[in-house]
Amino acid sequence: MTAENAAPKAKEKDGAMLVAELFAAAAAAGGCEQDFATYDVVYLGDRLFQVEAAFAAPHTTVGVNHQPSDDRPEGQSESIRKIKAFDSAGVETAIAYKEYGDWSALEGASRISYQLVVDHDEVKWRHGADEVGHPFGGGYYFAGHAFFVGPYSEDPTCPVSVTFDAPVGWTLTAPWAADGLSGRALSMSDLHDNGFAVGPFEKVEQKVGALSLTSVYDPKLEKDVRPVITGMLNDLLPAYTGYFGGQPAAAYSTFHFSYANSDGSAFARSFALQYEWPLNLTEKPIWSHVLAHETMHLWTGVVERADHEIEWFIEGFTDYLAVKHLYREGYLDDEGLRRQLGVFVSRHQLGKRMSQGTSLRDAGLAKGDNWFLIYGSGALIALILDAEQSTAEPGAFDAMMADLFAAAGEPYDFERLISFMDNHSDGRAREVFDAVDAGLRPNDINTRLVPAGLGVAGYVDQTYISFNGKCRKRRRCAPPFLQKPR
Ligand SMILES: [Zn+2]
Repeated sequence: MTAENAAPKAKEKDGAMLVAELFAAAAAAGGCEQDFATYDVVYLGDRLFQVEAAFAAPHTTVGVNHQPSDDRPEGQSESIRKIKAFDSAGVETAIAYKEYGDWSALEGASRISYQLVVDHDEVKWRHGADEVGHPFGGGYYFAGHAFFVGPYSEDPTCPVSVTFDAPVGWTLTAPWAADGLSGRALSMSDLHDNGFAVGPFEKVEQKVGALSLTSVYDPKLEKDVRPVITGMLNDLLPAYTGYFGGQPAAAYSTFHFSYANSDGSAFARSFALQYEWPLNLTEKPIWSHVLAHETMHLWTGVVERADHEIEWFIEGFTDYLAVKHLYREGYLDDEGLRRQLGVFVSRHQLGKRMSQGTSLRDAGLAKGDNWFLIYGSGALIALILDAEQSTAEPGAFDAMMADLFAAAGEPYDFERLISFMDNHSDGRAREVFDAVDAGLRPNDINTRLVPAGLGVAGYVDQTYISFNGKCRKRRRCAPPFLQKPR
């Protein structure tokens, strides 16, 4: 989870674009007369795909996501070969690679064709293969934005149809998959900002109410990982649904494969987990944590960020809520919960040292560099706010989270998010944010958490947490705000 990098990640997405997308969505609400694009994909065998894409309107720029590395300075675009463009009359027109994963077709491309070579696993990607692609079990996993060359700069809201021509017995798994090897994404960003898997895979389906989740597992993970993950999802999906009072969308997908290191990435309606091979079964609590965290992103992800300034919320609150539910659902015992709460405090201490001079609002500009600050301080804000709000009024923080979930729909910038939480907390949210942003020593945190029943002590990387309430039970002795409501 060290490189865990939240969802959704569109290329060069900024606030202005998100607002423009909303207008486009509103405009499209009346219905789309035509799909935005159609992709016909043929698997040629031997790690090679042939892709033909047709667009409803011509585009002068098409691209894939761009994550450069030393071995691949042009990132994912280096796996795209033999790209051709055609104008609206079907006549071939010039197309040339520019930079940052983009090709330029000055005359306008109504159709493109290209080959995709699956050589992605030759490279160590900065944010993990889970954000790019990886072959496993005789088939393939991809992030949509590594595979589908298409327009990024416009605001695609009409659906995109995809059809695969692949060997008998292959399945297509994606949140937008429909039947067989065909699917229809809600929009270009739904296609780009989700993962998909195509191969000889068994699809594991889990349903909770209106929510359906389809997962694919690397055959290597069949024995030790799959039962753990499916069992946890059976607990977490209804728990999260109950907590937030609903589900953000109907169809999700998850992808699980073995890799050189463990990691996880969440997209808008899907997430991918990679497990270090050979498996180290001592890692099980880490799988649980990453799964709870990435699954939580499916809910917290409805709070769309307008810019980088609420990254502490996106990651920190997600991690705090994941830990809270792991405890509530019995995946963490008292000792495990104390350790995890201690980790939040330690990360905050480390983050303040490693990101000196960086405000929490600005930390999101360089997420990788400010990882400890974002995750630690964000989770600490959630913990203190929950403790203080719940001491004033039991369940107040949880109710605020459910209200935030219900009110989502417009992107949030810092002011909008803090104002929302202030309105639900008598102005506590901004005060807690400012205090944590300025930096809190363990003893300061102790002073704030003691009224809620938590004791804190420590220095830098060492934190000790105690449950201070009278508890004669041998377990489940955490303060009430961390417990499952009866
Ligand atoms: Zn995350």
